Amino acid sequence: MAIGILLTLLAVGIALKSPQVKGYLGEMGIRFALRGLGKENIEILNDITLQNGNKTAQIDHIVIGRNGIFVIETKNYQGWIFGSEKNAKWTQTIYKSKRQFQNPIHQNYGHIKTLEQYLPDYVQPIVSIVAFTNSGTLKKIDVTSDHIHVVQTDGVVPVIKSYTEERFSQRKVHEIADQIRTFSLRGRTVKQQHVATIQADQQQKAKDMSQGICPKCGQPLVARTGKRGSFTGCSAFPKCRFTAA
Ligand SMILES: [Zn+2]
Repeated sequence: MAIGILLTLLAVGIALKSPQVKGYLGEMGIRFALRGLGKENIEILNDITLQNGNKTAQIDHIVIGRNGIFVIETKNYQGWIFGSEKNAKWTQTIYKSKRQFQNPIHQNYGHIKTLEQYLPDYVQPIVSIVAFTNSGTLKKIDVTSDHIHVVQTDGVVPVIKSYTEERFSQRKVHEIADQIRTFSLRGRTVKQQHVATIQADQQQKAKDMSQGICPKCGQPLVARTGKRGSFTGCSAFPKCRFTAA
């Protein structure tokens, strides 16, 4: 019994150390923090993929409020983080080991440029937020531009709330979100499939009719004459009421 509990605790401990679980928990932390923005007059889009030429931009979170559009890139890194807006690479230090990674501000800039292509009517500064989860510590980060913020999980909501100027009506907020949803790759794939299904149905219908088969019930079609002239009808009439010109 005691051994069982011990093994369970050990398994949970190992799971919490795995990068996937950590990444997941970090991501959940940001999502949870975003709830602090409330639900009214705000749209929070998670995991949006947009096509950019032959590449895709994967955006972790887009927050659309009456105060603007915020694009959030999340990083779940441990250790101390050092970086400057201008440098191509940032540094992560864990004890004595150092690792370099791509400047996340540059990465998020690419995401924002892609998003802008899909929002031609709303060109205005889109706010860039790079959010490090609480796994790590921001040690020295140099940012000089307005509308670029590098924070930890707890800092995301305060940054968004610091924008107090009203930019969009409530309706606009939802319109913008819908527009992004329409273009997000998953939404688009679903739409394409939907169109493909309709086209396939129409093709099948045309094929049936060219072979003299009722597309509705599969019985032979027959020529009939009615008050308004001749037409094609189903031989199963009145059970099937299919007609064609
Ligand atoms: Zn029929």
